[in-house]
Amino acid sequence: MGIALQSRGVPVVLHEASTYPRHRVCGEFISGVSDATLETLGIGECLADATQLQTASWNDHAGRLTEMQAPGRGISRWKLDERLQRRFVSLGGTLITNSRIACSPSVIWAAGRPRRPCSWLGLKCHARNLQLSHDLEMFTSPGGYIGLAKIEDGMVNICGLFKARPTRGAKGSALLLTMLRESSLHALADRLEMADVDESSFCGVAGFQLGKQEGPGFCIGDAASMIPPFTGNGMSMAFESAECALQPALDFASGRKSWLEASATSTASQASRFKRRLLSAMILHRLLMNPAALRITSALARRRCLPFQALLHLVR
Ligand SMILES: Cc1cc2nc3c(=O)[nH]c(=O)nc-3n(C[C@H](O)[C@H](O)[C@H](O)COP(=O)(O)OP(=O)(O)OC[C@H]3O[C@@H](n4cnc5c(N)ncnc54)[C@H](O)[C@@H]3O)c2cc1C
Repeated sequence: MGIALQSRGVPVVLHEASTYPRHRVCGEFISGVSDATLETLGIGECLADATQLQTASWNDHAGRLTEMQAPGRGISRWKLDERLQRRFVSLGGTLITNSRIACSPSVIWAAGRPRRPCSWLGLKCHARNLQLSHDLEMFTSPGGYIGLAKIEDGMVNICGLFKARPTRGAKGSALLLTMLRESSLHALADRLEMADVDESSFCGVAGFQLGKQEGPGFCIGDAASMIPPFTGNGMSMAFESAECALQPALDFASGRKSWLEASATSTASQASRFKRRLLSAMILHRLLMNPAALRITSALARRRCLPFQALLHLVR
């Protein structure tokens, strides 16, 4: 958003509560965003050399459920966020790190998922020497789901969303292994134990809810709505929401719209663009997390009775 506004002559001050670069809980599988959206925002170059991902598999504890085409880009948030901030600064944008601010008029709120009580735990780390059968491997279990995606330099990103439960003090990749084993994903845990995990890349997040958020004011990205992570569409939605917000923000900057009008136009544009995919993803997420529904969907998938490709389209 900052890059898009700054490159159109609107001066932007960006406050970041933390610093760049840093590891983030994210599957780092970016899927669904069009080249046109990236070009409108002026960030196509930042993703140009991302690993091109095509093939995907869905698996459960007993093995493969299906294979499909799931085009996407693989790039670590460490690398991507660093590039985005550099591009913003090179355009003359003012970046203030370690600066946590409050929402107020003329602040576009891109502060990510609001903190809310919940039962989710997101974990991620990078590993080397981990062979993948497909560019993206997804694993489902009643305890949570996890994705392995190829990123840069032969690294694999491992990221999962789990139902939070007591873990007897486990930390780092040991915590991830505990969650995998408690989710009966033993073969995957064995593979991870054999790989070279970069412990410094390990990070975790809790305290958020999925779906539409009640963010303050003019919101974009996760602050506006958080699509369930299995879709690999969260970053795309963050980019697309910036695209929805761009014209209203430009109208505010040029005095054609008040802040409230600009905010309302952006919110309405995001609602119509994301309504179907958010609803579909929330329904599918509930099925994935329900043990009985998961048993049925796994059985149907093994009999090739689930239209995975059509379902993927629904959450884009
Ligand atoms: C387990 C998991 C797996 C995921 N996997 C994928 C995936 O494979 N593909 C995908 O596309 N998406 C995935 N996502 C979603 C994706 O990570 C988010 O949709 C995306 O990061 C949203 O971007 P954002 O800019 O809105 O928020 P964020 O990336 O969270 O950025 C918000 C920034 O605001 C800063 N901030 C917060 N509060 C303040 C404040 N008060 N003042 C100043 N700064 C502040 C934060 O420090 C942060 O840097 C996943 C999410 C989870 C939880």
